[in-house]
Formats: sequence, structure tokens, C-alpha cells
Amino acid sequence: MTDRNDILFQRAQKTTPGGVNSPVRAFRSVGGTPRFITRAEGPYFWDAEDRRYIDYIGSWGPAIVGHTHPVVVKAVQDAAARGLSFGAPTEGEIEMAEEICRLVPSIEQVRLVSSGTEATMSALRLARGATGRDKIVKFEGCYHGHADSLLVKAGSGLLTFGNPTSAGVPEDFTKHTLVLDYNNTQQLEDAFKAMGHEIACVIVEPVAGNMNLIKPTQEFLQTMRRLCTEHGSVLIFDEVMCGFRVGLGGAQALYGIQADITALGKVIGGGLPVAAFGGRADLMKHMAPLGGVYQAGTLSGNPVAVAAGLSTLKLIQQPGFYENLTAQTSKLVQGLSAAAKAAGVTFCADSQGGMFGLYFADSVPGSYGAVMQSDKEKFNRFFHLMLDAGVYLAPSAFEAGFVSAQHDDAVIEATLVAARGAFAQLA
Ligand code: PMP
Repeated sequence: MTDRNDILFQRAQKTTPGGVNSPVRAFRSVGGTPRFITRAEGPYFWDAEDRRYIDYIGSWGPAIVGHTHPVVVKAVQDAAARGLSFGAPTEGEIEMAEEICRLVPSIEQVRLVSSGTEATMSALRLARGATGRDKIVKFEGCYHGHADSLLVKAGSGLLTFGNPTSAGVPEDFTKHTLVLDYNNTQQLEDAFKAMGHEIACVIVEPVAGNMNLIKPTQEFLQTMRRLCTEHGSVLIFDEVMCGFRVGLGGAQALYGIQADITALGKVIGGGLPVAAFGGRADLMKHMAPLGGVYQAGTLSGNPVAVAAGLSTLKLIQQPGFYENLTAQTSKLVQGLSAAAKAAGVTFCADSQGGMFGLYFADSVPGSYGAVMQSDKEKFNRFFHLMLDAGVYLAPSAFEAGFVSAQHDDAVIEATLVAARGAFAQLA
């Protein structure tokens, strides 16, 4: 064993469960040795053998302006020099809140936290606290972080392991969680008809990215908006992944639907731990210290993390940013589809803004059930062929991929060259 990735993986497994600090990193689904990353720049990162990869996970979404963007790095360095954490408020947090409220009009007030899990967990508590109801509605294959009552038929690493829920979550905690099919409008109607007055909230990834990329129908989102309004339930858009990824203003801007509460993360931290939840002021006033819903965090609104987030939010507002990101992502998925077709491999791909999905299937799936029909073994072989050719895709058939503003034409073309070779071998 001479590959340094192998050596590090062996070593990591001695002191860390599975050798990783977040399950999907372990390559359990695709097999093989995870790459240990030493540095990153623009669209690339390098492993422990100093092999370069074109990176299509971008830290699972945050690296939208490309890795180690000089403006972001400088902002972080300057903030770090002023102090790492104070546990007292800073002006940067106000700026960050103002920026988020301006960019996502349904958010009138916002609270910063450190992870998407905290954001959705707190949003849920707020919805329950504000309505005095217990029941929540979620959709199969949507992942909302690892809070107890949300770990029911969740996506991401849990789909990969084929494990619909998690050990260690008492049934009592999930008995209020109703799980419906994504894009199934009739089920929503039926659920609200049966128990609308008991439903605290509907939580949804308005563009789903944790069971591969699955887009909503307009009708699906519109129906949940209408039903929540009619029954006094809170509509929570979990835009931790799709917020500022499918476009400026997130999925709610794209589909023209206002959430009551929105959870954000990933892009808003620019690679450092920042997430947020916010929404209607009359709901947010239930949060402590104003109201009775408790939530807090030692490192919430951390000044270094906020500096990374603020500078990233400025960069993504530059003219043409999303037009370019969307165009590059389209070029990628169209090129991949053409390469598969030329090789005679059953494959399709889809994208929204800077987010994409690859499916070894006849047609683009619209639900968890449909995505599970795709050919996982083919994906796994494709993943390794691409990895060997220097392209790092999400190491699971059930994750979305991410393009950054630094994935220029040359990078996309290099990816397609690798893909043509990979598809030829799969045929
Ligand atoms: N919600 C969504 C939609 C996510 O994609 C994720 C993370 N992939 C989370 C919540 C949880 O965020 P975190 O990993 O920062 O806790």
C-alpha cells in the first residue's frame, strides 16, 4: 500500500468512525478509497498524491464562486486578524441579515446558525411553537439535516445506505412526521383534508438535491402553498442546498412562491459554517429572546464565517453571474447526454442553475420511487472511470452535482473528454 490516500484512510478509521466526519465522504456507495484533499483552487482540488481533479461537488454546494476565491480568502484573513469569535454581536451579522432579507423577499427577519441541520431543526421548532401543533409533513427522499423528527425516509447518505431512518431515533419522536411522495399533489390534498388543523408545517426542498436532482412541478409547490394558507400551517422551504444555487433568490424566486420560513446554508457561508432560518416577522417574533421558542449558538454569526458569507453573497450578485453559471451547467449536462447517446449508454441528465443530476435511466425522474429505478451499478462504474480520469463527481448515484463560476469552457470540455472515454467503456 503506497498510495497516500489509502494510508490516510487506514489511519483515519482508527480514530474516526468509518474514517470520515460525514458519511457520504466514505465512498461506501461507490466503493474504493476516498480521496484525502490537500488543497483547492477555482474548479479543482488535489488529493494526497497531488493528483488534480475537476471538482463537481464544491463542498456539496458552498463553493459556488470557485475554491479559494481571492476576495473571499482576503475577507476571511482580515476578519480572522480582528478576532475569531466574541460571543457578542457584530455589525457584520447585521449586514448579513440585511443582505439575506433583501435577496429573499419572503424573509423579513433571519437568524444565523452554523449548519443546515440547525436551521431546519429550529425552523421546525418555530413552526410548532407558533402554531401550537405537532404534526409535520415531509417528502420521501428530501433530506433536511439530521434532527430526530426529520430523519424519516430522508435522502442523502441515508438513501445511499438504503436506510430509511436512523437508529437512535425513538418512534415517539417521529410519530408526528407524515411522509408523502414528492410531486404528488393528490396526497397533499388528502393529508390536509384528513388532518389539516393538526399540521404545524410542510417542509420541502423546493428543488430536491438529496435524492439526485429532482425538480418540483409548479402545481406541487402551488398546492402546498395554498393548503398551508388555508389551514394555518407554516410552509418551510428548505433552501439549504438550492438557495442561491438555482438562482439568486433561490427556488422561491424561480417558481414565484413565497415560503413562510426559509432555511438557508451552504452558499451563504461561502465554505465556512454559516446557515440561517428566517421568514415572516410575525413568526420570527416567537424566537427567544422575544418569544418562547428557544434556540441559541456559541458560534452563531461567527465573524470569520460571516466575512466569508458576505463576500460570497456580494460576488454572486455581479452582473451575469447566474447566466454564466446556468450556461456552463447546461453545457455540461448536454455534453454528457450527447456523449452517452453516441456511446449507446442509457443515460440522461438535468440541471437547474448551478446544480445538476445524472441518471442512468431512460428519463429524468420526478420522485424518489422513480430515481431508485436508475442503474446504480452503472453509475458506480462511471464514477470510478471519471475519477481515474481526474473528474470528481458526487460519490453516490443519489446526490446532485455542483458547478462553480470557475468551471469555464476548457474545464467543461476536459470533463466531456473524460466522459466520452468513460461512456465508451460502459457501452
Ligand atoms: N437541508 C438540505 C436541503 C441539505 O442539503 C442539507 C445538507 N446537505 C441540510 C439541510 C443539512 O445541512 P448541514 O449538513 O449543514 O447540517
